Amino acid sequence: MREIILIKNGELALKGLNRSVFEDKMLKNIRRRLADLGKVTFYKSQSTVTLYPESEEFDFEQAMERIGKIFGIAGYSRAAVAPKDFEQIKALCVAYFAQSVYQYKTFKVEAKRSDKQFELKSPEISREIGAVMLQHYPFLKVDVHNPDLVITVEIRDKEAYIRGNQLKGAGGMPVGTSGKGAVLMSGGIDSPVAAYMMARRGLELCAVHFAAPPYTSELAESKVKMLTEKVAAYAGRIELYIVPFTKIQETIRDRCPEEYFTVIMRRLMMEIAGEIAQRRGAKALVTGESLGQVASQTLRALACTDDAAVMPVLRPLIGMDKNDIVAIARKIDTFETSILPYEDCCTVFTPKHPNTKPQVEQVRKAQQQVDWAEMLAEAVEGTKVEVIG
Ligand code: ATP
Ligand code: MG
Repeated sequence: MREIILIKNGELALKGLNRSVFEDKMLKNIRRRLADLGKVTFYKSQSTVTLYPESEEFDFEQAMERIGKIFGIAGYSRAAVAPKDFEQIKALCVAYFAQSVYQYKTFKVEAKRSDKQFELKSPEISREIGAVMLQHYPFLKVDVHNPDLVITVEIRDKEAYIRGNQLKGAGGMPVGTSGKGAVLMSGGIDSPVAAYMMARRGLELCAVHFAAPPYTSELAESKVKMLTEKVAAYAGRIELYIVPFTKIQETIRDRCPEEYFTVIMRRLMMEIAGEIAQRRGAKALVTGESLGQVASQTLRALACTDDAAVMPVLRPLIGMDKNDIVAIARKIDTFETSILPYEDCCTVFTPKHPNTKPQVEQVRKAQQQVDWAEMLAEAVEGTKVEVIG
């Protein structure tokens, strides 16, 4: 039996030129994500992409799992290919569901006929296939309103497809259709979720991580790599930049007012990340900040951070509760990694009494007591890059 995968586009509101840009990018992303599974060819029609594996060894399970994480896809399903002969279609229907049918109690059949020459009309196709299924699997009941299993039979120009329930796709827009952004990736719960959310809106990502050895360990760094890998399952390839941040943090500790430690640190992170982003063609920074979550995420503190950024800072979690963020972290399988107990550079020199209402002017003044230019350039030059995913 020959099998294929049917993939349905998301964001149906898109029209005209945008639509073909969306589809082309989606196809390219699918091709890249499945590249190591063997040769495949695609056929595009309206809002569906049909994927034909060319190799006998094509790993359907693996392909389906990966397709479920590609943005821009509304739904997807495996399907059996049948010749356009109704007796054969019926027989194949019975055979195709022989394994899976026992998990269902109710079903209905939907027929779609793009070939209007086909010998039977859609209602007749549905009725006859329904009858033959009932005959072979008498425990099934027909339920047209809320069935456990929807069998769809599509009569196309050259062949017919038979499929069961469609799986829900990852939604969103294909990665790359919204340009590129640099996510500030800590080892925490929030930033991987923020990265996932922006990738879902079509943003291609690179990631910047600030490491402060020996205050932070090798393990903290490998944790960030693991998290980036989990995000890359959705976002595609991510270049991860690891910035040596120790000297800057020690200088903040030694020469800045304690109440401003964190805000100044965050401002310097913005400057460095902005520089790396610009070099990589990224047009926005992404952080996992959420309003009021900690002292550096009050409105005033965020204003101080923004003041140092040379490009828009996207904060997809800004209005979310921690519980909701955790729910997404679990869904994308980053949570268990995020809670591994390694120090982040943010927690290295945490002030006892951070100022929760810092004024931009005063923070600037406090920061300007040090000439940072050379240190920042050194940090950028000392940055290591690793390609993930
Ligand atoms: P997270 O769970 O993402 O670590 P958080 O609640 O711990 O967030 P902060 O530590 O204040 O909050 O960091 C806020 C944001 O700043 C993070 O979401 C991340 O985008 C960025 N950030 C913090 N630390 C680092 C770091 N070491 N490297 C890169 N980005 C960082
Ligand atoms: Mg953190």
